[in-house]
Amino acid sequence: MSFNETFFQRAQITTPGGVNSPVRAFRSVGGTPRFIKKAEGAYIWDADDKQYIDYIGSWGPAILGHAHPEVIAAVQHAVTQGLSFGAPTEAEILMAEEICKLVPSIEQVRLVSSGTEATMSALRLARGATKRDKIIKFEGCYHGHADSLLVKAGSGLLTFGNPTSSGVPADFTKHTLVLDYNDCAQLESAFQQFGSEIACVIVEPVAGNMNLIKATEAFLQTMRRLCSEHGSILIFDEVMCGFRVALGGAQALFGITPDLTALGKVIGGGLPVAAFGGKAEIMAHLAPLGGVYQAGTLSGNPVAVAAGLTTLKLIQAPDFYTQLSQQTQKLVDGFNRIGTELNIDFCADAIGGMFGIYFCKEVPTSFEQVMQANGELFKRFFHAMLDHGIYLAPSAYEAGFVSACHFDHVIETTINAARESLRQITCK
Ligand code: PMP
Repeated sequence: MSFNETFFQRAQITTPGGVNSPVRAFRSVGGTPRFIKKAEGAYIWDADDKQYIDYIGSWGPAILGHAHPEVIAAVQHAVTQGLSFGAPTEAEILMAEEICKLVPSIEQVRLVSSGTEATMSALRLARGATKRDKIIKFEGCYHGHADSLLVKAGSGLLTFGNPTSSGVPADFTKHTLVLDYNDCAQLESAFQQFGSEIACVIVEPVAGNMNLIKATEAFLQTMRRLCSEHGSILIFDEVMCGFRVALGGAQALFGITPDLTALGKVIGGGLPVAAFGGKAEIMAHLAPLGGVYQAGTLSGNPVAVAAGLTTLKLIQAPDFYTQLSQQTQKLVDGFNRIGTELNIDFCADAIGGMFGIYFCKEVPTSFEQVMQANGELFKRFFHAMLDHGIYLAPSAYEAGFVSACHFDHVIETTINAARESLRQITCK
């Protein structure tokens, strides 16, 4: 038995499903998860010493490539000064200043330790600031696992949602209205019907949790306008796309200003840092200034902030995002060429350092279209790629991530592996 298999068996004895976050268990693709030993640059190594080109990048944070020497050095230095103080530090001021500088819609920011905390707190803040209960989210967007966000669409348009997770009382989701992504007409009707009761709209402005789906500009503009007209707060959940699709996030790319933004992943450079922030007048509702409670023992942790600050510094290098986007585009162009070459329903799309691969004719623009892609073929592709040393997300509904270490030869190796894999699984 391989180390991966042995570890997986052992892990399942003491950890539910053998993993500390469900997608890691390979449930939707089958097989044995790889237990990772180390990672460097574009590569990771599993417990059996097999090397892979990594397109997960810790689900987004590893934008510089794994174990960037400057980030490691900053963390090593921070560690020598103590691990956690539970008191403010200068590094937290620097981190807040950096975030406010890079994302101008954020006038004030609070640091937390996970994306879930960031969106959950932003939601509470929006409700507290507006004194309203109802929220709008979109099917297929994931905003962490806070109770009122674990919701699937109710039956029929404009019904409030049902919990997607057991353990969430229906009462907790009865204020959550779930609409279709990229559907402006539904937004209009929702506001027409409930406008004065809606605390906020929360959206991934580039969706990365139903594979990669880009929002149309009209969709984002419509929600911006409707929120302003009805006194509702627009929350961009940029936990994944922030500092991933562009330096200032999706809001910089689309030129749309949300009232609140949730950040995570990249801003922690691989350690647990996330944040939410926005207009100072809204942030003033937070404790200790206002009545909306939010706190964290390890919030602004000095070691994590050291990794985050160094990452934020390094991604500001000239042309960083131009190069990241170019490399991602090369990968996607390669995938698209193979789809045409082999005459199969296989295509890909990219934005910044994020990409999606789809087993369908055309790049999907809605949750419904994503669900129609060929999941069976994806599974086989995933395993064939893994055999070829390419580590993709083990689910057809996740985006992929490219780092600054995915150089030309890495991309070429990947494209060649994809051609071989697709030939193999389609017998072409
Ligand atoms: N929002 C988005 C858009 C995410 O992609 C994620 C995590 N994938 C979260 C929130 C939750 O972040 P975390 O896993 O750090 O709690």
